[in-house]
Amino acid sequence: MKRYQLHIDGQYRAPKSGAWFETQNPFTGETWAEIPRGDEQDVDLAVQAAHRALTTGPWAEMTATQRGALMRKLGDLIAQEATSLAETEVRDNGKLFAEMHGQLNYLPQWFYYYGGLADKIEGSTLPLDKKGYFAFTRHEPVGVVVAITPWNSPLLLLAWKLAPALAAGCTVVVKPSEFTSASTLEFAALFEKAGFPPGVFNVVTGFGAEVGTALVEHPLVAKISFTGSDATGRIINEKAARLLKHTSMELGGKSPNVVFEDADLEQAVFGAISGIFAATGQTCIAGSRLLVQRSIHDEFVKRLLEVARSARMGDPMSADTQVGPVTTPPQFKKVLDYIDVAKKEGATVVLGGKKGTAPECGNGWFVEPTIFTGVRNDMRIAQEEVFGPVLSIISFEDEADALRIANDVRFGLAAAVWTTDIGRAIRMSEKLQAGTVWVNTYRAVSFMAPFGGYKDSGLGRENGIEAVKAFLQTKSVWINTGAVASNPFVMR
Ligand code: ADP
Repeated sequence: MKRYQLHIDGQYRAPKSGAWFETQNPFTGETWAEIPRGDEQDVDLAVQAAHRALTTGPWAEMTATQRGALMRKLGDLIAQEATSLAETEVRDNGKLFAEMHGQLNYLPQWFYYYGGLADKIEGSTLPLDKKGYFAFTRHEPVGVVVAITPWNSPLLLLAWKLAPALAAGCTVVVKPSEFTSASTLEFAALFEKAGFPPGVFNVVTGFGAEVGTALVEHPLVAKISFTGSDATGRIINEKAARLLKHTSMELGGKSPNVVFEDADLEQAVFGAISGIFAATGQTCIAGSRLLVQRSIHDEFVKRLLEVARSARMGDPMSADTQVGPVTTPPQFKKVLDYIDVAKKEGATVVLGGKKGTAPECGNGWFVEPTIFTGVRNDMRIAQEEVFGPVLSIISFEDEADALRIANDVRFGLAAAVWTTDIGRAIRMSEKLQAGTVWVNTYRAVSFMAPFGGYKDSGLGRENGIEAVKAFLQTKSVWINTGAVASNPFVMR
């Protein structure tokens, strides 16, 4: 069995605790590797290394252009290792190889885009209202950044934090999810190969309550960039507020996918499927509330069922598989519990509703693609994030009704509208309370499109040019070119 090591200050090393924990393959249920159980001593070593790299040595001395060149080199190395990193992710999180391979092949773009941005972070000269000064701003790295990532897309979601952080000149300590740490530990090897100085990128694996807490509370950490559940996000944000640390929070969603009667129904069916059954529904942007206009409700559900019923569960490594297992045993239980809740609330199961026991599911933690009709928006199944292949269908009367239902939820990560009426598409996109609105598509993301949550779905934006600002702090510099103090006891 493979035994991984922590990655601190440019070296792989054993955890101070001398302890490892096991990680399982969600498809076979087998333990396939041991992950180091980091503790606060490893956290201290990693943060000290990141702080040294930030303040002294080659990274701190490097020009932004040189930083960008290193990032592009890293992108090239990721492209070379995309297949093996994707295989590791599939082994650890059970998502389809096709999905993870696609993500890994796309990942270099984050390092090319932000690598290019590194030397375009410009300050400005200030047209001062006071005579006798020259003043300008500098944008400097905010400091040591802690990235805390979830299990659903470990390296993609890390890249969303890491690439802008490196472009800004920060150094990083990452804590991946205890369920899917392997790919991040393998990824760390590429940093030294690319020529990054030691300490710029460190990985401490372990549990949230141990490593996560120690990282958030470490005095040399300036910023925490978190993706995960809103419950954990709140805990971290409260601590960070008390300790005056910067945060960005990408939390959950309960995204409405709204189908109007004038939509291209075939495309809308695919959109509904990709919103909830892709990635086994384990994505923060899952379109878990399907809002269908009453006039087409029955016809749409019929067409949706025809496609959903044929979704093939099975080995995530196989090119034929469309729905893989749920990643973790607690999540598997949670999804099944929510199905029970929905049944008790009076929603009607029209597809699935049980654990997957077909022969091709092997020993995996499968939940059948599940669809509920007759869902009311005040039901728990319509308000709470399930993070699994469970779709709630809610019918609506007209545009105003659709908007009211779509926005009547505490989350606001994403939303989609299916319509052939351009005016309606624009009206809806203006009024939907979500950080991303798709029109006639679903689950599209890009390094250049800002991503983040309205309402309880989070704070701050990742991706796009503005994301780099979250890793910078601004300094104003005043130079006296001849101003003379007439009264030293009064503000100049
Ligand atoms: P999920 O596992 O559902 O994605 P979590 O919010 O539980 O969501 O986990 C996301 C990440 O947060 C994981 O890396 C986890 O270990 C980490 N984490 C959990 N609890 C804490 C905590 N109290 N402090 C810091 N990190 C934590």
